[in-house]
Amino acid sequence: MSDAPHIVDFGKKIVVITAPSGAGKTTIVKKLLLQHKHFGFSISCTTREKRANEVDGKDYYFISESEFRQKIQNNEFAEYEEVYPGKFYGTLKSEIERLWRDRKVAVFDIDVKGAVNLQKLYDENCLTVFIKPASKEVLLNRLKGRNTENADTLKKRIKRAEEELQYEPKFKKVVPNADFDIAYMNVKNCINAFLKSNSPAVHH
Ligand code: 5GP
Repeated sequence: MSDAPHIVDFGKKIVVITAPSGAGKTTIVKKLLLQHKHFGFSISCTTREKRANEVDGKDYYFISESEFRQKIQNNEFAEYEEVYPGKFYGTLKSEIERLWRDRKVAVFDIDVKGAVNLQKLYDENCLTVFIKPASKEVLLNRLKGRNTENADTLKKRIKRAEEELQYEPKFKKVVPNADFDIAYMNVKNCINAFLKSNSPAVHH
């Protein structure tokens, strides 16, 4: 899909890319956002530590656990999860509104449980795409090769990735990720078909 000079109104749409941690979804989401100006990244809140290459307010809103709990109390989240013990991740309702105000299709990179919740909430306005790793071995090797984790965190991530693999049947689309370019093209095709079939109007 190219960014044509006319205005395209996709309405209030969300596209959720989900997968077990380490399946390559973040790389796919980053490329989608680079190539399509009408996609906007839904920046999540998290209580985990910022990694060296990450920017606050771009990759995540890094907040304290007490701030996170306050936002839960205030009902500010569309969804949130304790993805790892003591590490909270969540999507603010205001974030989705911000993207829609800017006429963006809101694009998410979130865990499988959050994706299931968004699918329930937004129903036909929501496309969920599950990125399926080539094999469990490939997934575990990717997690091990990340080097951002200590042994304990890595163990938790592996356990969780194994559970997350079981969620595959819950999503609208499943895209295998044995080859990045093919997976990326397949994800794009799924999104194009969803936006075409579901958009209220295209103004020329
Ligand atoms: P990481 O710590 O590697 O950035 O992310 C860990 C997991 O949390 C990933 O699967 C990521 O997609 C997921 N995640 C990121 N933001 C959110 C969110 O807002 N809600 C939920 N439920 N999961 C999220």
